[in-house]
Amino acid sequence: MPDQIKHDVIIIGGSYAGLSAAMALGRSLKNVLIIDSGLPCNRQTPHSHNFITQDGETPAAIAAKARQQVSAYKTVSFINGLATSAAKTDDGFAVTTQDGQAFESRKLVIATGVKDLMPPIKGFSDCWGITVVHCPYCHGYELRGLKTAIMSKGDKALHLAGLVSNLTNDVTLLTSTASLTPVQLRKLTARRIRIIETEVSEIVHQSGHVKAVVFADGSQEKFDAIYAAVPFEQHSEIPVALGCELTETGHIKVDATQKTTVEGVYACGDNSSTMRSVASAVYAGNLAGTAINRELTEERF
Ligand SMILES: Cc1cc2nc3c(=O)[nH]c(=O)nc-3n(C[C@H](O)[C@H](O)[C@H](O)COP(=O)(O)OP(=O)(O)OC[C@H]3O[C@@H](n4cnc5c(N)ncnc54)[C@H](O)[C@@H]3O)c2cc1C
Repeated sequence: MPDQIKHDVIIIGGSYAGLSAAMALGRSLKNVLIIDSGLPCNRQTPHSHNFITQDGETPAAIAAKARQQVSAYKTVSFINGLATSAAKTDDGFAVTTQDGQAFESRKLVIATGVKDLMPPIKGFSDCWGITVVHCPYCHGYELRGLKTAIMSKGDKALHLAGLVSNLTNDVTLLTSTASLTPVQLRKLTARRIRIIETEVSEIVHQSGHVKAVVFADGSQEKFDAIYAAVPFEQHSEIPVALGCELTETGHIKVDATQKTTVEGVYACGDNSSTMRSVASAVYAGNLAGTAINRELTEERF
């Protein structure tokens, strides 16, 4: 049995995407419960960039302000915790949390983000989000002009090399040439981008600030910054357990209104988009919130 009254919407994940959905719904007097486990993907990064009005703020400050503003809407409530399962009921969804609480809602928003999978390279995870970064738009300006390495393969490596070469003239690709086509290799050579094929075994750093890369053959080279494309997995198994389809890239499949392939379930933010930024997560959450409000209205009106 649920512990509380049935909510219009349960939002699993209360970071930028989830809070944005909650604001749109709260402003329409919808009864919303946000369940959040408090582990946003950017928590180790000292400053967040490229989100207008909040450029250079800490990720936690942006989230705290968002939460404070969303809390002003009295029909929105929060619990800190991990949603561990969700199931379809006759007229909505039942969600349970790790500590055994149970809640019901008519609609569900999955705003759970993704989990970045750190490679087993000593020092890598300590530098993640500080000077080992995923995105030139988020951190490239601060790392401009530095001696920079890129750890990636194939098309993604070429894409990153192009973007990063706008920001610094000293770019080295740490990759296997086998992942690149002859045309790609010619482009890199023409732009004086070096390639090192030897496997990386360690990133030497001081409090997350890269000092050097150590290679498997024992050699090392000084670098100041690294861009890395790392694999990810869904943070939560709930969408797949509910039957939500994933895309080829591993994102939750959504339509133009953030609706998943399961009726009544919406997804927003990193879990359903290749556009990985605070601004995109906020946009997608806002879209999901308004789409759900419309759906709830049409069911009633
Ligand atoms: C290192 C790093 C640095 C970045 N820097 C920038 C930057 O400078 N500028 C920028 O625009 N973007 C940046 N990004 C991207 C940006 O952080 C993400 O696009 C954004 O956080 C996505 O928001 P989200 O709400 O989808 O997911 P997240 O912010 O990752 O939040 C997901 C939330 O869901 C919760 N959750 C997950 N599963 C459950 C569950 N089962 N139950 C309850 N809660 C759950 C998590 O605890 C978390 O609070 C960065 C990303 C990384 C990894």
